Amino acid sequence: MKQDCIFCKIANGEIPAKTLYEDERFRVILDLGPATKGHALILPKNHAANLYELPDEDAMAVLPLAKKMGLLMKSRLQCDGLNLVQNNGETAGQTVLHFHLHLIPRYEGDGQRIGWNPTAPSQEELETVRKEIVG
Ligand code: 5GP
Ligand code: ZN
Repeated sequence: MKQDCIFCKIANGEIPAKTLYEDERFRVILDLGPATKGHALILPKNHAANLYELPDEDAMAVLPLAKKMGLLMKSRLQCDGLNLVQNNGETAGQTVLHFHLHLIPRYEGDGQRIGWNPTAPSQEELETVRKEIVG
C-alpha cells in the first residue's frame, strides 16, 4: 500500500466504498461520479500507479474480471453496451494515480460520449509511425 493513496485505502477496505466484488487481488467499486448507471472501477489491492507499473499477474487477471463484471451488468442492468476505459498519465485524463479500469455500461440515448477526433494519415505516414514504435 502507498501512503496517502486513496485507491489503496479503498481497495484494502480502509475507506468505505460501494463494493460490487472483491477477491485477494482486486476490489470493484461504484464510481462516485458515474458517467452512467453502474459505472464501476476495478482497483488492484497492490499499488501500481498506472499500466506501466502494473505487475503481469494483475494485468492477466484484470480482463477476465472485467468480462465477468460486464456480463453481470449486461444481465442485471440490461445495458446496451459497455466501454472499458483506462487512463494513464494526466495528459490522458488520469486523475487518481493508482491503476484503475473503468467499466461504463452504456444505454441507448444516455448522452455520454467516449471518443476521439479521427485523423487521416497516409500509408507512408502510418509506416513512419510503425517504424518509430517498433523499427
Ligand atoms: P481517472 O480520471 O483517474 O481515470 O478516474 C478517476 C475516477 O475515480 C473518476 O471517475 C472519479 O469519479 C472516481 N473517484 C475519485 N475519487 C473517488 C472516491 O473516493 N471513491 C470512488 N468510488 N470513486 C472516486
Ligand atoms: Zn494506491
